[in-house]
Amino acid sequence: MTRRPAFPVRLDLRSGAPVAPKNIANRVQGTGAGGPSDQKISVQGGHGMDSAAVRARMVQKLAAQGVSDPRVLSAMGTVPRHRFVDSALVNQAYEDTSLPIGLGQTISKPNVVARMVELLLGGRVDDQGRLGRVLEIGTGCGYQAAVLACVATEVYSIERLRGLHDKARDNLRSLRLANLHLLFGDGMAGYAKGAPYAGIIAAAGGDAVPQAWIEQLAVGGRIIAPTVMPDGAQALVVLEKTAREMKQSVLEPVHFVPLKSGIA
Ligand code: SAH
Repeated sequence: MTRRPAFPVRLDLRSGAPVAPKNIANRVQGTGAGGPSDQKISVQGGHGMDSAAVRARMVQKLAAQGVSDPRVLSAMGTVPRHRFVDSALVNQAYEDTSLPIGLGQTISKPNVVARMVELLLGGRVDDQGRLGRVLEIGTGCGYQAAVLACVATEVYSIERLRGLHDKARDNLRSLRLANLHLLFGDGMAGYAKGAPYAGIIAAAGGDAVPQAWIEQLAVGGRIIAPTVMPDGAQALVVLEKTAREMKQSVLEPVHFVPLKSGIA
């Protein structure tokens, strides 16, 4: 069944670019100051591609597929996904497909990124329309981290492979996301210094959600993690922390690279 979007993203018909909801537009990629003069992500393709128009089409498809949170649609319409993939794959950057990013890892397809970020938000935002501090495990090429930086006040993203941590840093440099912090290390241990988190999102699938993540989650917070089920298949798991317990929901099947311990 196709879910109907509740709030289709507003499109600026002159440029074809999605318009960020009020209160977010000026803070999305800025210096953190939140003023109207904040720097915006440049959307010039540099590959002979009108990336804003292609991205706007991707956003329309996401909305048709059931992604309805306007902040998520706006973020997906803002972050230049083609800047995060190898030049040979640029033409596929806005297709609904996962792509290799090197070292045997993959960037998730846009639909999965949008779905997971929407689950992470879960309607819990501050009066600026943002989620609080977020921890991402598995920076990869940095794409999802950039999307998260558009919807959360502060993002800590950990990667265990030095080569990808460096690549993400390069990919993200020109976007100047002052609220995004890249860390090199084993994300299984979380990142205690940034805790407590309003949300924790894993881009790699483990056999269980590490205890450290549960400890570092704020009450009222959510963990979104692909997890291997007893039958051996991965499913998307949502954990919610209440004052008394952890509530678990097992959602649709997913296919993520494995969560591994240690660094390399
Ligand atoms: N969100 C990423 C997707 C990266 S794929 C993007 O937008 O590109 C998942 C990543 O998780 C891989 O880069 C892998 O190296 C990393 N990973 C796996 N186990 C990890 C761990 N314990 N700590 C940190 N990163 C981990």
